Amino acid sequence: MIQHLAKNALIYPLHYLRREHIGRYVAEVEAVNSGSRDDIAQYQRKWLCDVARTALSSSNPGYETLRKSVRHMTEDSIISLIHDIPPQSKEMMRASMKADGRPRGITVDYRSTSGSTGFPFQFFKDRFATGFMDAVLYTAYSWHNIGIGDPQARFWGMPLSARGAALAQLKDLLKNRIRFSAFDLSETAKDSYYQHLHAFKPAYFYGYPSLMAEFCSHLLDRKQNLRSLPLKAVIGTGEYLYQHERDLVEQTTGVPFVNEYGCTEAGIVGFECRHHQLHVMSSNIYLEIIKDGKPVLDEEGEIHVTELHTKSNPFIRYSLGDRGILYSEPCPCGSALPVMKVLSGRKDDYVATPDGRKIYDAIFAYTLKRGISQFRAVQTALDRIEISIIPNDDYSPELGEQYIRALQKQLGEAFRITLTIVETIERERSGKLRYFRNEINRPLDSVPQE
Ligand SMILES: [Zn+2]
Repeated sequence: MIQHLAKNALIYPLHYLRREHIGRYVAEVEAVNSGSRDDIAQYQRKWLCDVARTALSSSNPGYETLRKSVRHMTEDSIISLIHDIPPQSKEMMRASMKADGRPRGITVDYRSTSGSTGFPFQFFKDRFATGFMDAVLYTAYSWHNIGIGDPQARFWGMPLSARGAALAQLKDLLKNRIRFSAFDLSETAKDSYYQHLHAFKPAYFYGYPSLMAEFCSHLLDRKQNLRSLPLKAVIGTGEYLYQHERDLVEQTTGVPFVNEYGCTEAGIVGFECRHHQLHVMSSNIYLEIIKDGKPVLDEEGEIHVTELHTKSNPFIRYSLGDRGILYSEPCPCGSALPVMKVLSGRKDDYVATPDGRKIYDAIFAYTLKRGISQFRAVQTALDRIEISIIPNDDYSPELGEQYIRALQKQLGEAFRITLTIVETIERERSGKLRYFRNEINRPLDSVPQE
């Protein structure tokens, strides 16, 4: 009943208020999902041309050739021009979006992300883009019988300001979900969430795999499980998924663990079917795995996406900073949506506190935003955190002091936190930029099992 209400009385009308024609977008996504390879290719070509036209208004230097030639060209030539665009790093995209500023004459939402790489990134999304991102999500979730407005238990961060937290709680209420905060991993919090789950009866879990695994491991110690909940699936997102986490969560909940691969910038990129294969969301994402500057199939390379539905600030050949493979073989489930795999880890870590708490490292991404181009935090002792930052024009020493105080408030006053301005932040040996490293009490290095 609540689900029904949430969908029909709240969520759909909200989309219409936002002028997102969600019903039409969902039908379009479903048509692509059930189409043949040729249908999908044809659909993508059409929308790639649309994106190329949208890119005419962007000042991104990488789109220069498009601006010169696209207006009167054939579909074939536009597609080949798109493939001439240099792959766009997060830094390049951030600079061009900053130069373009807020799009005019179109309603947009402000979004920001720092992901796992320590690059705060702010941008605008138009309603055509956000509506389509949601349509892709609803459709993918329906593969596992999760409906719009179904009750969700969320394993996620919680905004640190009182206003942000209140807003998140209001959103949770409207969206029919309850939240386990990644910033309070105390035994009390876990026990209380266990009770809360049984009263709320969620249809699915959603969140960071490591956080759900941490919760399930606590229940295992307590000889408890979640098998009496009316769960349909557990959806993990935002980090690399390790096989042991999948096993632990499936064992505790008794339902399939479904892996989602996506980003704030373009929504869901890959989503697992019932055969545990990660399908590319081709209705909204044109995926390329780029190796030595060329797109490859069945080989390892860098994951790049082009978002197909957008009327402003298009993301074209945008690097997500992960490595992966795009397969030529179809999935045994029968879907023609291509199968992909994500290789390298977005593996988050925890801050260990002197009073024995563990705090999810997303706390840094939630705190260090304005004024900072890039950061990395390293816990060097039980009461010491050293943060390197590359500031931007909005930075001031007072802002730095505010950040230190905000972190001390969350982590504990005993923490000595230093903020040092640097010129460069080096990558990990894996080539990945990670924004947090715990040099003490480090768990045995988890080795990906797949
Ligand atoms: Zn499949």
